[in-house]
Parts: sequence; structure tokens; C-alpha cells
Amino acid sequence: MDIELKEGLKTVLQFYRELGFESLPLSCSDELEVANYKLNDSRNENSKDQLVEFDGIAPQCPKDAQLKVLRKEIGECQRCKLFSGRTQIVFGEGSLNATIMFIGEAPGKEEDIQGRPFVGDAGRLLTKLIEKMGFRREDVYIANIVKCRPQMNREPQGDEMSTCFPFLDRQIQVISPKVIMSLGKIATYALLDIKVPMSKFMITKTRGSVYDYKGISVVPTFHPAYLLRNPRDKWLTWEDAQAVLKII
Ligand code: SF4
Repeated sequence: MDIELKEGLKTVLQFYRELGFESLPLSCSDELEVANYKLNDSRNENSKDQLVEFDGIAPQCPKDAQLKVLRKEIGECQRCKLFSGRTQIVFGEGSLNATIMFIGEAPGKEEDIQGRPFVGDAGRLLTKLIEKMGFRREDVYIANIVKCRPQMNREPQGDEMSTCFPFLDRQIQVISPKVIMSLGKIATYALLDIKVPMSKFMITKTRGSVYDYKGISVVPTFHPAYLLRNPRDKWLTWEDAQAVLKII
């Protein structure tokens, strides 16, 4: 924001502060307006420089506006090294009012080309599961722990996941599903507060129970790519899907 505009905004906000307003709920039509500005007490010298405090996206704004701002904030992200191998960012997609969110680990080759999550062979299997659960793909929300494809489809590394995760966290807060189905070891490990090192963490021992992420139920299951290689375990995923259906 340019300095002149910021100074002007400070003066206006100071004026409202003196009138007794604590905050200004602004409209949601563009990036600036969805910002939730807090009015610090201008009488306090220490808070003068922070008179205008940007507090992220106003939660009262429509979900599509909130996600639009988030996408804009991600921009052509280069915050972690995964940017160098991607064709495009795979933001995530689905219903803004989804009760179920499916979270995988990272985009693969097909996802990187199309810019959509779970559109390859594993994605087709996930779509079948969603339909078997009684939903259409567009009724749920689908995303990944990292938004850029790791080259050669390697697993995302710890620093890449921790850099990208706040974006997913914001998406989860906006969509606010009743339940998250975490797909595979990486997604489950990133979402849950797991004490053992990743190398010792096993999805086979974790699935079968319901966990919590910031008040949202989490049901871990196998990644669809694993099920393509091990179709015998599909019935276990169906068991997990039934646990999801019980919750909603
Ligand atoms: S994976 Fe996430 S943090 Fe890393 S470059 Fe892509 S969008 Fe940015």
C-alpha cells in the first residue's frame, strides 16, 4: 500500500477510533476491502505505528471471496523449492459448503498439467469412492498438503510441507468441513499432532480411529495411489469411509 494512502487511511481510522469504534467490518468486493482492520488506540504512543493492523481475511466475508484473497496471496509462490519443478499451482477445488474435505499429499504429473487435484488414475479411484459414499465429486472439497508437484513424484519434504501448510490451514478454516479424510501417510502425518518421527509413522496403525484437527474430525485412510497397487486393501478404505459417513 503506498505511503500516502496508508497515511490517509490512518487519519480516517483515527477519526472512527475517537468516535468509539473498535473495528470496521468492510465489504468483501476486493482484496483491500476484505481485510479486517483493527483500530488500535491512537492515544497510546506505542501503538501509533500500528494504527492500521491487517488482520487477514474477514471471516464474515463470503467463502469464495476469502479463497480468492488466499489464492491471490499465494500468487506465483516461490516460498519453497517445489516452485522450480511445477507447471502450475494446484490450489484445490470443490464445494465451498462441503461437509467432507479430502486431503492428499501433493499434485502428481496429471494434476500439475491440469492445475486440478486428483485427476489422474488415483483421482479416478477417489472419485469412485466419493460416489460410493453417496456424493458427487463437486459436493466435496479436495486439496493437498503442498500445492506444487515434487519432481519425479518424490514425497514432499518437511520444510516444503511446513512452508505450504498455512495455506491449506486457511482453506480448511474457510471451508470448515465436518470431517477431513486424510489420504495416506504424508497427509495424515502433516495434519495430526504425531509424536513419532515420520520414518516410524505407519498409516496402517493409525487408520481405524477418528482424530481431531482444530475441532474438525479427521479420518485417516490409505492414499488412492496405494490402493491402485494394493486393491486388496480397498475394503479397509470403505470401512474408513463408513466412519466418515457416521460423523456427518
Ligand atoms: S509448494 Fe506451496 S509453498 Fe512451495 S512453492 Fe508451491 S505454493 Fe509455494
